[in-house]
Amino acid sequence: MEPTNEFTTERAESLAAEGWGLDVRAEALVGFADDNFRLQTEDGRRFVLKISPPGTSDEWIQCQISALQHLATSPLAEVVPRVISTRNGQTLLPLGGESTQPRWARLMSYLEGKPLAEVAERPPGLLEEIGRTLARLDLALADFDHPGAHRDFDWDLSTTPKNSHLISDIGDPSRRALVETHLERFDAHVTPHLFELEHAVIHNDGNDYNLLISETQIGDSRLAGLIDFGDVLYTATIAELAISCAYLMLDRDNPLEDAVHVIRGYHSIRPLTRLERELLPDLIVGRLCTSLLFSAKGRRSNPDNSYLQVSEAPMWRLLEGMTMDQRDMLGKKIAGVCRSAPARSAEEILSIRRRHVGLNLSVSYSEPLKIVRGSGQYLYDDRGRRFLDLVNNVCHVGHCHPHVVAAGQRQMAELNTNTRYLHDHLAEYALELTGSFPDPLSVCFFVCTGTEANDLALRLARTHTRTKEIVVLEHAYHGHSPSLIEIGTYKCEGPGGEGLATHAHAAPIPDAYRGPHRGPDAGWRYGDDVARMVAELERAGRPPGAFMAESLIGCGGQVIPAPGFMPEAFAAVRAAGGVCIADEVQVGFGRAGSHFWAFETLGVVPDIVTLGKPIGNGHPMAAVVTTPEIAESFFTGMEYFNTFGGNPVSCAIGLAVLEVIESEGLQQHARDLGEQFLAGFLEMAPRHRLIGDVRGLGLFLGVELVRDHETLEPADTEASAVIDAMRDRGFLLSTDGPLHNVLKIKPPMVLTAADVAAVLKNIDEVLTEIEATT
Ligand code: PMP
Repeated sequence: MEPTNEFTTERAESLAAEGWGLDVRAEALVGFADDNFRLQTEDGRRFVLKISPPGTSDEWIQCQISALQHLATSPLAEVVPRVISTRNGQTLLPLGGESTQPRWARLMSYLEGKPLAEVAERPPGLLEEIGRTLARLDLALADFDHPGAHRDFDWDLSTTPKNSHLISDIGDPSRRALVETHLERFDAHVTPHLFELEHAVIHNDGNDYNLLISETQIGDSRLAGLIDFGDVLYTATIAELAISCAYLMLDRDNPLEDAVHVIRGYHSIRPLTRLERELLPDLIVGRLCTSLLFSAKGRRSNPDNSYLQVSEAPMWRLLEGMTMDQRDMLGKKIAGVCRSAPARSAEEILSIRRRHVGLNLSVSYSEPLKIVRGSGQYLYDDRGRRFLDLVNNVCHVGHCHPHVVAAGQRQMAELNTNTRYLHDHLAEYALELTGSFPDPLSVCFFVCTGTEANDLALRLARTHTRTKEIVVLEHAYHGHSPSLIEIGTYKCEGPGGEGLATHAHAAPIPDAYRGPHRGPDAGWRYGDDVARMVAELERAGRPPGAFMAESLIGCGGQVIPAPGFMPEAFAAVRAAGGVCIADEVQVGFGRAGSHFWAFETLGVVPDIVTLGKPIGNGHPMAAVVTTPEIAESFFTGMEYFNTFGGNPVSCAIGLAVLEVIESEGLQQHARDLGEQFLAGFLEMAPRHRLIGDVRGLGLFLGVELVRDHETLEPADTEASAVIDAMRDRGFLLSTDGPLHNVLKIKPPMVLTAADVAAVLKNIDEVLTEIEATT
């Protein structure tokens, strides 16, 4: 479609008045499909009025508008046009008139700047900034979708060979042959790999006329705008970079170098996978071919449209210059850039860590991974390999969720200070967070880590009950401060530990599969153990002031407390005057599936709940929620000030996480996927002698491996072998439990049903292999 030029400037002016109440002067602008006008008000405000050609689909325009609205809340808000609603609050103004087919008018903010095509001086810094902006754009659009973006489109780089029917429009036979050869190569080398590439909605036309450069500050390398979302499309994400490179290489003295600067910038923000790097040169050439085919076609059908032919001559020069040697050279340069951008090798980093970072920190896997990017449920290493993350419950709503990232970036650019000043975000977050708890849990404290949360929980309990005596569970981990190490046997009874403090008393884990009590009434019998322990403490004149346990037990081996245990343990401790602390650092925020908080699945309401890990999706924040009564006891006159806890950035991020859990229905999703996992493991269990027990709630699951179903001899080396084999297949898992024989599953909650099916299939195969050799 092409501009109809049916609209006069006077008509544009009257539309602006009619639709948007603006008194403006209009000036026609060049466009590819729309009739475009620049509008200016008396007081100097500028806008762009775009009028779609007759017959443009409503869905398609809505898609462009939605994409822009999505970006308006992202870190790119400053560089993309803003959609301006009509006086009636509509984003589109329907037009009657000249044509019987519908036409739509819409208004955007006007971005000042000079098209890059007119900027001869392009310092590397400017080109890198363009690359970074394109990468940020792709990251921001990664969670955007719209039915209008899924369409057949001639300018879809992934279907380039489809345009070969236009080859006959190229007059010169040698040029015809050249394009034909390139399209054949594309078909042979690119097409078969397309399905392996990450796909998302992209801008799809970052050409040198759509990139606006700040005129006054060119020396300062400022990209001022990215316009024209008319080609927005769901396709291979890497097409974004390829398309821009194709145009940015036109008429340059050193086109490969210019492209490499753009690629370096892009890779620093959104690292390219190995496949993306390998295909990039062919994709760049593919775009040149498509552009030349359409200008040949355009010349045939409409010899007067100069816009169509604007870049034809330099395109031919570039395509003819992109010999196989040049393409190989570009490939090598890209590989170099991508190797050197995240500068250090894994070995080098390990050696620096050994010399300059405390040694008490082990690294996962004997051949450590260098992870350079995360997105959704996936992690990517420096070699471009993709892994499904099945253990990181911190990145709860998915790695680098764009909504959470944007919330943090926006607030970080505006204000970050402490809570001695009033801020809306803190009030909002306190309301939202406490609103998710049952009564009487309604007062929160904001801290930065799970350890701080549990440490504060101990202080609250101690101040309220005036005793340090505490009942905990064996093999518990609640944090790394002295107050928590001395009550957690996972650490204090392990290497370097000094044993439990005299005020701490550990009861057995309520594990109905392994341990002193088994079978359907095990939970009540474990509960009796706690009651007996409490009675003994009372007799000794040391009644417990607190009971602390994870609602679902993590380090203890992914154990779902046997039914009956928690209510009985809570009742015994409360009868002795103690309070109950639920550590939900690992398991809160909907992971349990049926309920938002895991304690709700156990039929208890704690007096203090501690939160961490998923609360900020990776941003260091945590919280304690308690009752007004306990908070009142803690109000002794001593201040509780936490430099970073509850700051505006953390609260913005915390709110964004809650919004995503709600808007993406992640709690219900966790319940569904949990059921799928359990059903899958139970189905395969009879086929695998190593599977002893399968347990879980929502997306918190454990598969316990044993060598003997009677003695329950732990299959620890086999469990490690499963982890290693799964890693080689692209799945990151780990083991847990006192005996290191439990496969632990607690993935980001954006896992999909297809991911679950793939995990089940691969574990099934890996177990079969391991069982055949052990
Ligand atoms: N409680 C539990 C149950 C945990 O798993 C952890 C961390 N593994 C913590 C507390 C401590 O949290 P952090 O590392 O944020 O201090």
